[in-house]
Amino acid sequence: MDEDIRELYQEVILDHGKNPRNFRHPEDAPLEAHGNNPLCGDKLTVYVRLGDEQKIEDAAFEGRGCAISIASASMMTDIVRGKTVAEMERLFGVFHNMCTGEGEADINTGGEFADDLDKLRVLSGVKQFPMRVKCATLAWHTINAAIHDEHDATTE
Ligand code: ZN
Repeated sequence: MDEDIRELYQEVILDHGKNPRNFRHPEDAPLEAHGNNPLCGDKLTVYVRLGDEQKIEDAAFEGRGCAISIASASMMTDIVRGKTVAEMERLFGVFHNMCTGEGEADINTGGEFADDLDKLRVLSGVKQFPMRVKCATLAWHTINAAIHDEHDATTE
């Protein structure tokens, strides 16, 4: 990866890590789940409210962890708002591939989620560090658990 791009990505991650978006406990979010990544010590609680036709009306989180896990949760909660559960799951699938380094073609062609994947690309550097993949995907596993009424998500 180009050195300038790498620095830019790090800046974005640090900014989200220090000033996470949607870091709050909403009063009217009936779904929640706890996410735990024991390898790194990341612990998140993700809160969700669904509206008509399984549309995600609100997503927020609290917790503590490394800059990557917090940055990922910050971006995830922004990006999934307004999407349906099915769309969120499809996007998570492509994002997961991006983090593990599989399915590059999907990412490059972009498809229905081109703009979202463009933002999430800053986290793609984790593919060089397999343990970090769990940091980057924890928030997504956790929102999935919340929506499916499982109360805990763990990367183990
Ligand atoms: Zn972590």
